[in-house]
Amino acid sequence: MSVKVNNLKSCIDQFDRAAELLGLDENLKTSLKMPDRELSVEVPLRKDDGTIESFQGFRVQHNNSRGPFKGGIRYHHEVDLDEVRSLAALMTWKTALVDIPYGGGKGGIAIDPSGYSERELERLSRRFFRGIDPVIGPNKDIPAPDVNTNAQVMAWFMDEYGQLHGHTPGIVTGKPIDLGGSLGREAATGKGTAITVRETASKFGVDLEGATVAIQGFGNVGSYAGKFLGEMGCKLIAASDVHGGLHEPDGFDTKALFDYAYENRMIKGCGQGKAITNEELLALKVDFLIPAALGGVIHKMNVNDIKCKFVIEAANSPTTPPASEELFQKGIHVVPDILTNAGGVTVSYFEWVQNLQQFRWEEDEVNEKLERKMVKAFQEVASLSDEKKISLRSAAYMVAIDRVAQAFLLRGV
Ligand code: GLU
Repeated sequence: MSVKVNNLKSCIDQFDRAAELLGLDENLKTSLKMPDRELSVEVPLRKDDGTIESFQGFRVQHNNSRGPFKGGIRYHHEVDLDEVRSLAALMTWKTALVDIPYGGGKGGIAIDPSGYSERELERLSRRFFRGIDPVIGPNKDIPAPDVNTNAQVMAWFMDEYGQLHGHTPGIVTGKPIDLGGSLGREAATGKGTAITVRETASKFGVDLEGATVAIQGFGNVGSYAGKFLGEMGCKLIAASDVHGGLHEPDGFDTKALFDYAYENRMIKGCGQGKAITNEELLALKVDFLIPAALGGVIHKMNVNDIKCKFVIEAANSPTTPPASEELFQKGIHVVPDILTNAGGVTVSYFEWVQNLQQFRWEEDEVNEKLERKMVKAFQEVASLSDEKKISLRSAAYMVAIDRVAQAFLLRGV
């Protein structure tokens, strides 16, 4: 059963919980919660048949105390201002948690892109980027891919910005390699997720060899996570995407599944597993359940069905805070999104640094640096959670909010 979850409320509840534990001053709390700037733009599109359709687009800049705003742009029919506000705030905490010099921002267009041609999406993307041009810049706000956007969309963004301001590869990250994208960026969020699973297994004494995994959402993040976890010895027994799910109790051939999904943009027809619904997948008794699609999939209506040992949040806000607390009380640990999926923005940061230096790093160097960032952040969160006997989620927010609060106070108002 699906319920409409208010991600902004979830995000504020979570902030309040951690700010309380930190003993933050009330006025400081209010300031850190409020977005710095919100831009809403109308995005008209001339369709291939000559008609005009209008869409709403947003860019929300939450906080830049630690550096320029940073975060993705998603194309999804459920995008609205509240959702973008909550996702922008998540980026502020995420970049602080992995200690990279950015603030948080997010953008989106309320559209289901599956009904539009490539040329229409190009025109729409360029028009949107022109709309948000006044508030972005390589030292102001640096967009990146998110749900239903990719390296190609970033290439159009970069080109559009370049027409107005001159060639500026550092204006967006997640670009194609040929246009200054970083080696390792496409796989980074999935790699960071796999590193998080490995660190979780090691902290809680779970043997990775043969550990069972279910992945809800086999897009960019989920498919790379599945591939890397297969290489680490885990047994991926279920996966799903928008077209449906598959269950393979003996474990998928993860490389073959990844290759098929990469080629066909879906897992249906891959020749492995039996059909399974999304609800059934979420309720499987696995070691690691990885929601890697959209927000709010684990909520008060289905939290009692969850039987995994760990929820690894590869998507943004897949578990509502009350559901997350309930899981914690039941002994199911939730490794939060701002830690699990931070690999993407971490390698975005490396991409931006390479662009500013006009110098390309080898993929090994990128991956080594990603590994170090992820492990350090995991250890900081795990040790605070042990020390204060709080959930990994609360600990992650405490580390992140404390860093942003310090930066805010040091800069002064
Ligand atoms: N959209 C991704 C996220 O939610 C990546 C953001 C970025 O690389 O700036 O973390």
